[in-house]
Amino acid sequence: MTTQLLTTSERDLERAAAIIRSGGLVAIPTETVYGLGANGLDPEAVKKIFLAKGRPQDNPLILHIHDASQLSDFCRELPETALLLARSFWPGPLTMILPVRDCVPKTTTAGLDTVGVRCPDNEATRTIIRLAGVPIAAPSANTSGKPSTTTAAHVLHDMDGKIDAIVDGGPCRVGVESTIVDLTGPVPRLLRPGGSGPERLRELLGELVIDRAVTGEIAADAVVRAPGMKYKHYAPAAEVLIVEGSAEAAARWVRERFEPGDAVLCFAEELPLYEGCNPRAYGLEADPATLSAGLFAALRALDDGSVKRIFARCPTGGGVSVATRNRLRKSAGFRTVNAEPDP
Ligand code: AMP
Ligand code: MG
Repeated sequence: MTTQLLTTSERDLERAAAIIRSGGLVAIPTETVYGLGANGLDPEAVKKIFLAKGRPQDNPLILHIHDASQLSDFCRELPETALLLARSFWPGPLTMILPVRDCVPKTTTAGLDTVGVRCPDNEATRTIIRLAGVPIAAPSANTSGKPSTTTAAHVLHDMDGKIDAIVDGGPCRVGVESTIVDLTGPVPRLLRPGGSGPERLRELLGELVIDRAVTGEIAADAVVRAPGMKYKHYAPAAEVLIVEGSAEAAARWVRERFEPGDAVLCFAEELPLYEGCNPRAYGLEADPATLSAGLFAALRALDDGSVKRIFARCPTGGGVSVATRNRLRKSAGFRTVNAEPDP
């Protein structure tokens, strides 16, 4: 099939909505990353998402709605906390896990009795959802296992010929996926850090358990609450190794080991320390939002086949950096070294 490139003009958004209604696939811009969307209530349409991505069938999709008032259409129970979070975070990068109604097919939820729901902070995509008259099920619009897509060009690279259309809404502002919070248990549980920092969530909810999958490596056969968490993720072809420690200690450590075919993924402030070491900055350490926004694009740029090993610098700190760190650690398969000399 030929993949159409659409703009955010009114006519193109109507076209995109018509494709969704008729069971096709459209990549949609959101503030987090591009989504690969289909009619979330049509199992045949949703199946095409898994095929186009090469995504395992037991990895559920997030249902995107255009307004919080739609929550009750797809969720059986709405705890007070869900309404509170919807009011505080939506439209925005927060996904809530809630008990699912029967109208949502098992293909969308991967057979779970819960569903992830989110209202994205992107006018064009909310318009498509409204015009389509159905919620849009969408995972990130990348080939399964690869870094997520944050521009229409990335989506075209991974999905050309496999999907009906891409709506080009420009580069994604946040750059990492949504924060996922499970509200179906006795205590709210953070399943994935994301665009909304965990601090404000905890402040509003009073208590928030951090799921083990957020911090540690998950065995392939583990039963996890967010099934997506157990798979290899965000990984370029090159091996990624996170180098911790001060800017100077890390640069010394890397320079001692640097070989042709290596590259360095660092903060813009550190570029001068890596002269001659094929450095690429993904943002400013002093401005963590630029790091989350630039991470996936930088990993993709280093994924050109010539780079064999990437030494990566990882932000510390809270807010969106929790998510940046999580994605980088996953892309590294949790391989980390401390470059500080032993005390
Ligand atoms: P993606 O952002 O492309 O990885 O896809 C959506 C993410 O949401 C995946 O990590 C899923 O595992 C997670 N997710 C979607 N629905 C649920 C659910 N009902 N329970 C737990 N996690 C979910
Ligand atoms: Mg994904």
